[in-house]
Formats: sequence, structure tokens, C-alpha cells
Amino acid sequence: TKFVYDFTEGNRDLKDLLGGKGANLAEMTNLGLPVPPGFTITTEACKTYLGSGEEPAALRDEVSAHLEALEATMGKKLGQADNPLLVSVRSGAKFSMPGMMDTVLNIGLSDKSVQGLAKQAGDDRFAWDSYRRLIQMFGKTVLGVDGELFEDALDAAKTAKKVTVDTELEAADLKKLVTKFKRIVKTEAGRDFPQDPREQMDLAIHAVFDSWNTDRAKLYRRQERIPHDLGTAVNVCSMVFGNLGPDSGTGVAFTRDPASGHQGVYGDYLQNAQGEDVVAGIRNTVPLAELESIDKKSYDQLMQIMETLENHYKDLCDIEFTIERGQLWMLQTRVGKRTAGAAFRIATQLVDQGLIDEAEALQRVTGAQLAQLMFPRFDDQAKVDQIGRGIAASPGAAVGKAVFDSYTAIKWSRSGEKVILIRRETNPDDLDGMIAAEGILTSRGGKTSHAAVVARGMGKTCVCGAEELEVDTKRRRMTAPGGVVIEEGDVVSIDGSTGKVYLGEVPVVPSPVVEYFEGRMHAGADDADELVAAVHRIMAYADRVRRLRVRANADNAEDALRARRFGAQGIGLCRTEHMFLGDRRELVERLILADTEEEREDSLKELLPLQKRDFVELFEAMDGLPVTIRLLDPPLHEFLPDVTELSVRVALAESRGDANENDLRLLQAVHRLHEQNPMLGLRGVRLGLVIPGLFTMQVRAIAEAAAERKNAKGDPRAEIMIPLVGTVQELEIVREEADQVIAEVQAAAGTNLRLAIGTMIELPRAALTAGQIAEAAEFFSFGTNDLTQTVWGFSRDDVEASFFTAYLEKGIFGVSPFETIDKDGVGSLVKSAVQAGRATRPDLKLGVCGEHGGDPESVHFFHEVGLDYVSCSPFRIPVARLEAGRAAS
Ligand code: PEP
Ligand code: MG
Repeated sequence: TKFVYDFTEGNRDLKDLLGGKGANLAEMTNLGLPVPPGFTITTEACKTYLGSGEEPAALRDEVSAHLEALEATMGKKLGQADNPLLVSVRSGAKFSMPGMMDTVLNIGLSDKSVQGLAKQAGDDRFAWDSYRRLIQMFGKTVLGVDGELFEDALDAAKTAKKVTVDTELEAADLKKLVTKFKRIVKTEAGRDFPQDPREQMDLAIHAVFDSWNTDRAKLYRRQERIPHDLGTAVNVCSMVFGNLGPDSGTGVAFTRDPASGHQGVYGDYLQNAQGEDVVAGIRNTVPLAELESIDKKSYDQLMQIMETLENHYKDLCDIEFTIERGQLWMLQTRVGKRTAGAAFRIATQLVDQGLIDEAEALQRVTGAQLAQLMFPRFDDQAKVDQIGRGIAASPGAAVGKAVFDSYTAIKWSRSGEKVILIRRETNPDDLDGMIAAEGILTSRGGKTSHAAVVARGMGKTCVCGAEELEVDTKRRRMTAPGGVVIEEGDVVSIDGSTGKVYLGEVPVVPSPVVEYFEGRMHAGADDADELVAAVHRIMAYADRVRRLRVRANADNAEDALRARRFGAQGIGLCRTEHMFLGDRRELVERLILADTEEEREDSLKELLPLQKRDFVELFEAMDGLPVTIRLLDPPLHEFLPDVTELSVRVALAESRGDANENDLRLLQAVHRLHEQNPMLGLRGVRLGLVIPGLFTMQVRAIAEAAAERKNAKGDPRAEIMIPLVGTVQELEIVREEADQVIAEVQAAAGTNLRLAIGTMIELPRAALTAGQIAEAAEFFSFGTNDLTQTVWGFSRDDVEASFFTAYLEKGIFGVSPFETIDKDGVGSLVKSAVQAGRATRPDLKLGVCGEHGGDPESVHFFHEVGLDYVSCSPFRIPVARLEAGRAAS
């Protein structure tokens, strides 16, 4: 194998081997763009090194050969005393990853070559500054010396000289600092700073390899589900300097605006500086457009290059560049990150420019981005008082009173207050407080901190790592820059999409994208409308190509109508238990308490017209579209009062001597129906089998409602679904009774209602015997909530609050299996049940109605296993449509 590729040998398709950075440097080199010459050491070399602890035998010689070629090209040798070649060593994995070593610059400088560099550049100060930067970066990232020690020494040098910025230190000061830095290295690392340039380079390369396995990098990979065995590439690139005077500089540029997608000149430039100065914010950058007046030649060339890159990558690119004494160099490019709104706009703009087709446009956006656009946001016209900014960890706009501990969060929210939980960082003890809060703000931690991970899991707005905010939980207050103090109870607003934190209440406006789906807004000319127009077009592409149909989980006409506006093609799950609550609860209680057949039949008779009315409304809202109605599922005790409350009431009444007969019966029933594991108890089809008349009442209500709609010239398409079936026998019994009721209603109405009867597949046994079950079912709907619960043995109601946080932190899964389908376990059962079901009944209709039906990744899975539809909550329908389109294109 070949372990080293010159930039002229690679290309952008070799990201697995050369990493993102290396592959793109090669691509630019081959496009004829000015890239400083260099080479890339492959991820294969890294994998061998990490596997065996030693670099592959051939690597040293290959690196030597490439280094010699580089030296020949550059006309100077690495670390050569009078005219040194200097290189940077940079990591570059396939996916960019925080927590990994980034860059060591100026490799090749030593006590000798620093003199050569000074001569070559005609600048003593520059040379000594470059040398101290090398020792500092090398000491910290390669030799593991605490970076603060260097910072402290630098500060001390400035204080001694009574200056405040680095640039005021002169050559002599920096020379002294170099001596100091070398001493720090010697003491802390137990070795001298290496003077041999090749040793510097080799050590830096090994450090990059090793950084693949830092704890932070490993955690990040687990959470982002990046495989651990990819390894990183290493780029060795000849140095160019942006800090050689006013005709030098460094900058970043975007080929279009990453916030709006508009074409134009976007970026920043910093004269006489190196890349890290831009990051450190030592001096202020100027807008890229000003480069035109600073250095017209480089500016024009850059504009030309940006056009070349966009046309070549057919996408927004971001670029890092350096100008060394009037010569422009490209240091990096990649397809750039963008906001969710810009992703939609750019995709359609590129279609209009003829750069990509519609199928490609669909791949340029994601359901997660669409979901982000559907969150309410802060009114951007509002006057705001920004007090800080952190990491946008979980989108949304949240307003509430500041609280600094979970206890207060819970207490205040119980009394109806909206609160924002503010912590330095959160831990599992904060969970209840996080649930109670509108949003979460932390001053520490990144995108993978506890707060961020848990908030995203809960769909709760979160800003984390807002470091300039000083959180003092003991004194229950937070101090913002400028001394603004936020006390407990003060209102704050946090924007989880931008990371901004505001004092006071910022008004929230609905998302224009939701307004569009609701039919309240149409494409026009202003900025929001431009976004809406882009979303409209992308949704149209998705609808055209998708195979999966998308239905809604909805139990009432209002939700059904909204779902229809959002593009639902039917109802995939109507949970009838939601029709048993409210003022009907009393009737249900009577049903449960009935001592005689008569009493039971009476209460069923009273429930019948109410149920029927619900269904008529639902069929009307969904006229012409399928409506799957699930017969009663939850255990009966859910419809009865809480046992503790009732016991207290009865005990109190008894002590007063006025015990109520009904309460006593109720209490008995509650005790009788009490189950240790109600989710595994008397629920679903089991209820239908032990409570005579319950399911037949529901079937009759459905059939009569359908008949009524038919009479009214409607087009009802009801499907009756039996929950929690484990064996075909259960289904057969229920089916037989149902068929009889349907036949009666049809005879009375004189019409064929074409009611389909099917079942949910939500128990492992059902999935395993799907071939038999299909004999009695016209359709299957996978209930992946219960299926996940029973396959994993996880209580769906408890785990999120108990051990899931620990599991997520440990990376056992990157995301809850209740959110994204567990393909290997639950998914494989779904897959085999699909095959077995279709083998029995080729025209078996197949769908899913668990939460996974609206989850982007899961939608792709359901497309692959060949379901006919997914069903999800109304708000997720656009996301499901989009992802179904992306899966099919
Ligand atoms: C399921 O179990 O996936 C399902 C849709 O039913 P429920 O969530 O009502 O149990
Ligand atoms: Mg279920």
C-alpha cells in the first residue's frame, strides 16, 4: 500500500483515505489553484499506527521521498540553517472533529534556522515570533505541556515591558521568551525541545495520529455515530506567511452567504496576520470586500477562484487563504456549513443556475433542517438586549424567569411560571428541572455536554457554553459582561438556534414555514417568502419522487385537518382511548365497575353515540383518505382515579362516618385492576377479549359512522386496527365478532362499507409469527414504541428519566432507540415480519405508527424495508414527506 500522497496525486473522492482536508487540498491543486505544495499521510497509516503502536515500516521512507520532492520544488530544505523550508502539520479526518489535535505551524525552525528565516524574510521580529509560536504549539499539542504555562510566560513578558498586545514585543523580547519557553518544555516534558527538524515533523505526525483516540474525540464520535476505526490523515504543507508586512494577510471567505445563500462577497480579512490571530481576535478583521482596495490583484484572483470552486463543487464552499507578499495561497476549502434556511435556498438557487438537478437538490437539505425551520423564533424586529452568546445546542425560542437550581425550576413551573434553568453545567440530578423548564442555559460545555445531549433528546431549547456569563448558583445570580446582574426571577430569553441570550422577554413569532404549511402564507418577494418559496419547491420534488405515503397520528378532527394541510395522506393511527377521557370518564368508570351484564350494556350503549360522533367528524375531515382506528389499548386503571388519592378520600370520609358507596366500589375496582407491570398486563386486544361488548361497541360506532358518511355522499375509508396482538388466535376471535357487527350494520344501511381489519405488530411474538398473523389481517401497522419497549425490555415511560442519560453519555447509543429505530434489533424484526407477512398475503398493506414514523433516519429505514406508509404526529408530516423523498431519490 501507498501511505503518502502528494497533493497532486489525490482528489476529492478520496476522503476516506486522505481525510476531508487532504482530499480537498488535492482537488484544488489539480484544478490549478495556488495551493502551497505538500503531501498527505493516509488514514491507513494512522490505523496501522494505532493498531500496532508503530508506524508502518514503509512510512518513513515514503515520507522521506515526498519530503525530498517537496524540498526540490521549493528549492530549500526542511530546517536548512540559512534558508529553511518550514511546514505545517495538520490533522484531517473524514469528518471534522472537535477534540482532535488541529495544527502545528512553523515546523523546521530551530536555534539555527531561526536566523536563516530572519535573513530570508528580512525581519528579525517575525522570525523569533514564529519560533516562539512553534515551541508553544509543539509543547502543548505534541509534548502535552499545559498551555497556560506558555500563556503566563507571554503575559509576564508583556507586563515586564509594560505593553498589552503581542505585537508590541520586539525581537529581543521574543528571543528571551523563546529561551523561557524552551525551559518550560524541558521542565514539564522532561526533554529538550527537538532541534532536529525531521524529528519535529515525525513527532507532530504521531501526535496527530494519537489525537484520534483522545477521550473527547472518542466521546464525540460515539455521540455523532462516527465509526471509531476510520483514523485520521495528516497533511504536511509548506508554510506561507501572512504576517510578513502590510502586503501580507490572511482571511476566510464563503462563495455565498452561509446565512441567506445569496451570492456576493462574504468573508473577513486581516492584514499582516496569521490564521490563528484571526481566531484569537487580537485585531479586528475587515470585510472581505475591502481587500479590493488593499490588494486588487489578489482580490480579483480570489473572486475568480471562488467562482471556479463553486462551479466545480456545485455548492457553497468556504475557504481559508493567505496572502504572502502579494501572492495569494489557498490553505483549505470545503463544502461549507450553512443555516437551515440557507440550505433550502441554496439548493433551489443551484437548480436555477443549472448546476444541480432536482434529485441532487433533495440531497442538499435534511428533515432535521426542515424541523428547525418549523420552530417558532424570536421576532427579529423586536428591540433586544443581548447579554451573551453560547453554543446553539437545541433549537427553539424560550422565554422564562431565571432559576438556578432544579428544585426551584420544578416548584415555580408547578405554580404556572415559565422558567429558564441556568446552570454552570448540568448533570443527571438536574433532569427533573430540565423537564420543568422552558429552556436550559449553561455557561460551560459544548454540543456534546450533558445539557446539550439531554435537551436535544427532549426537544427542549438549549444554549450551552455561554462562557462570558458568570453563573453563581450559590447566590442565585448570573453576571453578564459589563456587570449586568440577572437575579433569580428576572426574565431571560434564549435562542437555541443562534445561541444568543437576551435580558427580558423577546416576543416570539410563528415560523413562516409553518404559516406556509398551514396555508396562511404564500411565496412572494421578501426574505421570509424567499425561504417559503424554496421550501415549497423542495417539498414538491420530494412528493414527486417518494414511494412512501405519509399519514398522521391524529385523534380528532382538528388535528386531522391540520395534518391534511401539512400533506397527510390519511390517518395511520387514531388512538380511541383519547376519546374516553374528559366528561366521558364517568361513563367509562361505570363500564368498568358494572356488576351486571345489564349495567355494562347500558354504559356501552351510552358510549356508542359519542364514539360514533367522533368518527363521523374524523371521516369528514379525512374524506376520501384512509383512517386507521385503533380499538382501545391502555390498561383500564388509566381511566380510574389515582389509588392514593382515592384511598385518602375514602379514609377521610370513613373517619367522618359518611363513606360514599360509589367511592368504596371504585376503590375496590382500583385494587382489583392494579397491576405491577400494567404495560405488560390487561391492555390491548386482551381487554377486548375479557370485557364483553367493548370492542364490538367500538366496531359498531365505526361502521355506523361510515354508513352515515356514505349516506351523506361522503367517502369514508375506515380501517379497524387491533392493538397488542401476540398470536393469530387473538385476532381471529376479535375479527369474527367484528365481522358480524359490520355485516349487521351493512345490512341495515344497505351498503358495503369496505372496512378493512388489521393489526398492530408491536410485540416480538407478533413479529416472529407475522406469517400466521397475516392470515387474519389485511394490514399491519408496526407499533415501534411498544416493539422497542418489549424487544429491549426498556420501560418506555421510565427509562428516559432513569438511566438513559448515562447510556447516552457512555455512548451505548448516540440517540434513544425510542427516537430513532434500532435497525439491528427492532429493525430486523420489522424487516422479517414484512417479508413473512407479504409471503402469506401479497397485498398486505404495511405501515408504521410508532414515534419513529416521523424520525428522519428511521423514515429511510422504513423506505428500505418496503413499507407502504409512515404515520407520525401532524407537525412531523413535512419532515417525513421530505425524508421519504430523499430516501427515494
Ligand atoms: C406503538 O406502540 O408504537 C404505538 C403506536 O402505540 P402506542 O404508542 O399507543 O402504544
Ligand atoms: Mg403500542
